[in-house]
Amino acid sequence: MTNEYQIRVVPEVAAQEDRLKSWLADEYGFDVRTIHGVRILKRSIDARQRQIYVNLKVRVYVNEQPHDDEYVRTEYPNVEGRPQVIVVGAGPGGLFAALRLIELGLRPVVLERGKDVHERKKDLANITKTQEVDAESNYCFGEGGAGAYSDGKLYTRSKKRGNTDKILNVFCQHGASTAILADAHPHIGTDRLPKVIEAMRNTIINSGGEVHFQTKMTQLILDADKVVGCVADKEYRGPVILATGHSARDVYRYLAEAKVEIEAKGIAVGVRLEHPSHLIDQIQYHSKQGRGKYLPAAEYSMVTQVDGRGVYSFCMCPGGFVIPAATDKEQIVVNGMSPASRGTAWSNSGMVVEVRPEDLDGGSGIADSGDHPQLKVMRFQEELERLCWQQGNMRQTAPAQRMADFVNGKLSYDLPKSSYAPGLISSPLHFWMPKMISKRLQEGFKVFGRQAHGFLTNEAVLIAVETRTSSPVRIVRDRESLQHIRIQGLFPCGEGAGYAGGIVSAGVDGERCAEMAALYISGKKSI
Ligand SMILES: Cc1cc2nc3c(=O)[nH]c(=O)nc-3n(C[C@H](O)[C@H](O)[C@H](O)COP(=O)(O)OP(=O)(O)OC[C@H]3O[C@@H](n4cnc5c(N)ncnc54)[C@H](O)[C@@H]3O)c2cc1C
Repeated sequence: MTNEYQIRVVPEVAAQEDRLKSWLADEYGFDVRTIHGVRILKRSIDARQRQIYVNLKVRVYVNEQPHDDEYVRTEYPNVEGRPQVIVVGAGPGGLFAALRLIELGLRPVVLERGKDVHERKKDLANITKTQEVDAESNYCFGEGGAGAYSDGKLYTRSKKRGNTDKILNVFCQHGASTAILADAHPHIGTDRLPKVIEAMRNTIINSGGEVHFQTKMTQLILDADKVVGCVADKEYRGPVILATGHSARDVYRYLAEAKVEIEAKGIAVGVRLEHPSHLIDQIQYHSKQGRGKYLPAAEYSMVTQVDGRGVYSFCMCPGGFVIPAATDKEQIVVNGMSPASRGTAWSNSGMVVEVRPEDLDGGSGIADSGDHPQLKVMRFQEELERLCWQQGNMRQTAPAQRMADFVNGKLSYDLPKSSYAPGLISSPLHFWMPKMISKRLQEGFKVFGRQAHGFLTNEAVLIAVETRTSSPVRIVRDRESLQHIRIQGLFPCGEGAGYAGGIVSAGVDGERCAEMAALYISGKKSI
């Protein structure tokens, strides 16, 4: 017999199977020896009150062993000899597009400018060693895309649950823990993602698809108003799913030069804020003891409005690291990631201010060349990253300031210990960052400090500059066919095209683009 229950238990019960079985036996009148298994179907933490609870939906197996599959498997047929589709970019958008193409009987040919997920790791380590960024292999470029060395947080604001469930199940099929299907805020962890990504690549290759690394697309091949392939190390023929991410500035420049319709898109810009993780645990779990043995490193989410623009926390990484995420020389860009254990001594998040294209029409404090107005938000990012690099002594040492000092407009005499490996340099961020960002951050931090006692503190440090929050450009596409608005056979996909904002939503968009590419090839109206 199997029964499902929605229950609310203290963390030590939720975390230990024996305790959970005893609790269920007491609550529902079973002999504990008859419970052969408990599967957690949903899990969320309720930390609103001093006593923390864990809400669980559980399936209890009484007098029978768990027998049902833990995740839904997808079948991948052999697609050798089938019509091919070129997928540019092996981030989550491109990888999920390629896997869905296989499901639909088409052969994906994936072109990725960076290295495979393991080789790439050496270039990441080199950023700290040499203070130099490899423009083709870094935290944004390479197999797995920007999401590979991240937190692997898998939640999304997408309302289409069915689609996001499919993405999570495909991750499980490729080695991710099935806990991601249960957790309200699932994450894989930067230490586990590479193996999952490698398994996805192997599925593509074993099914008859191709994956080419260090192969950069430089040009589309157009036949009148139709894309029939692209140029990289050689010509590749087929419709193109363009999933090149938010940092491929050369791709945006090429599209602007080639007069392919693109438009400027708003982004959010700010800093990484790093606290000692025990402080965030104390605040969020309302206890001097912090998280104790059975709770994960605490998360937070902050949002307010200052002078008509959103100021908010972004991509929070409890128990994580701040990392150097630039994609070229003469830039500093920071971001965050965390391992599966979320066990480091720091918790960080982006603290960013909404920037709309019209905000840059004079008064941004950053010079603009004015060419291709569609690229103005991208140029603003670029200039700010360069300014930050200059402030950081022209190395990857990031300009930083204690949080309360920033709010009070004071230079920090010293800085706290940080997880940011290339090192920090004390800098008056309040002074040199554009006022439309720094003023709003100062006001926003005061609001957050009032909302969460102890949050606004000099124990926390701001690390500049966080600019790669989303794409500064949208590659305009038709809502129905997902093809470029003017050019057939071109499917702008994922975050870089302006249609996704995270790993899961990029994966969902990749699947949709694959479906539309399949319809385009077949000439049918539905799959
Ligand atoms: C450090 C970090 C941490 C993050 N943490 C999270 C998180 O925890 N959860 C979350 O949901 N999101 C996170 N994100 C955001 C997430 O990674 C992106 O939203 C997601 O990866 C977008 O997927 P994508 O496939 O659209 O683009 P990308 O992942 O950016 O992939 C684009 C790929 O295209 C390749 N490419 C670019 N140009 C070319 C070319 N000309 N030819 C061939 N290949 C090319 C790039 O090398 C790259 O591999 C994080 C991002 C970063 C940088």
